[in-house]
Amino acid sequence: MNIDFEIFSPVHQIQNKLFDEQGLKVFIKRDDLIHPIISGNKWRKLKYLLKQAQAEDKTHLVTFGGAYSNHLLATAAAAAKFGFRSTGFVRGEEVNNDTLFLCRLHGMNLLFTDRESYRYRPVLFNQYFADDNKAFFIDEGGASTLAAKGCSEMVNELTETYDHIFCACGTGTTAAGIINGITERHPDTKFHGVPVLKNGEFLRNDIDNYLTTAADYQLHTDYHFGGYGKATDELIAFVKHFAAATGILIEPVYTGKMLYALYDLVSKGYFSPGSRILAVHSGGVLGILGMKDKF
Ligand SMILES: *Cc1c(COP(=O)(O)O)cnc(C)c1O
Repeated sequence: MNIDFEIFSPVHQIQNKLFDEQGLKVFIKRDDLIHPIISGNKWRKLKYLLKQAQAEDKTHLVTFGGAYSNHLLATAAAAAKFGFRSTGFVRGEEVNNDTLFLCRLHGMNLLFTDRESYRYRPVLFNQYFADDNKAFFIDEGGASTLAAKGCSEMVNELTETYDHIFCACGTGTTAAGIINGITERHPDTKFHGVPVLKNGEFLRNDIDNYLTTAADYQLHTDYHFGGYGKATDELIAFVKHFAAATGILIEPVYTGKMLYALYDLVSKGYFSPGSRILAVHSGGVLGILGMKDKF
C-alpha cells in the first residue's frame, strides 16, 4: 500500500481590527483540516516513519504517549488506515477518556505503564516485543529525524511568502522541520516557536539537533500558562473568543497558547507595519474534549 494521501491544508486570512490598525496581514495554515483524527503535524510526523516501517516489512506500530496524547490517537488511526496493527503504551495508571476511547475504536491495544517504567521506552518495547519481528518502535510524539523531514514539507506547500511563521512547540520536532523548510525555500522568513511547557528555553537544544543547517529563530517562552496541559481563565477565554470570532476551533494545550502569544505580541506592537504573519494550526482540536471542565 502506498503510505500517503493528498493533503488539504489551505491558508486562510484571519480578520481582526487590531491587525488592520497595525497594518498587519495574519494568516493561518489549516493543517487541522488534513484529517479529522490523523490531525495536523501528527500526520506529517508519522508519514516517513510509516514508510520506514513498511520498507522494513513491519506490520505492528508500537508507540507511547500520555492519556490525552494526540500522537497516540493519530497513530491508531493511521495504523488502521494503512493496514498496521497498533499498540500504545500509556503513561500512568489505567484511565478511560475520549482520546483513549477513540484509540481503542481504531483498534489500538493499550498498555498502561507506571511513570518510572515509561521513562525507559526502548526497554519497555524490548520487554514486550523482543519476539515480535513485525513490531516497529515509534518514540513518544514520533520525535525523530524522519518526523522533522515530514514537517518540513509544510513549507513546500506555501505559495506566498511570509515575514513570520508561528508554531506551537512540544518536543520541538515540528518546529525544527519547519525551520529546515524555511532555510531551504524562504530564507527571509523568521520562525517563532511558542513552547507550551515551562522553561521552554531547553527546547533550543532539541530543535538544533534536528536542524540540517544552523538557523536563527525565536522562542517565546512566556506563554506556557503554568506548564504542559495547564490553562488559566485568560487562556480559556481567548480560546472561546477565537473560535467564536473566526469559526476555527483551537484548543488550550497547543494552538491556543501559540495564537494567544501571536495576538499578545501584536497588541504590544512587536511587528513592523506591513508584516505578513502565518500561524500554523497544528491540529489536535479533539484535545479540547479532555478540558471541558475548564470551560
Ligand atoms: C503534538 C502537537 C504539537 C507539538 O509538536 P512537536 O513536534 O512535539 O513540537 C503542536 N500542536 C499540536 C496540536 C500537537 O498535537
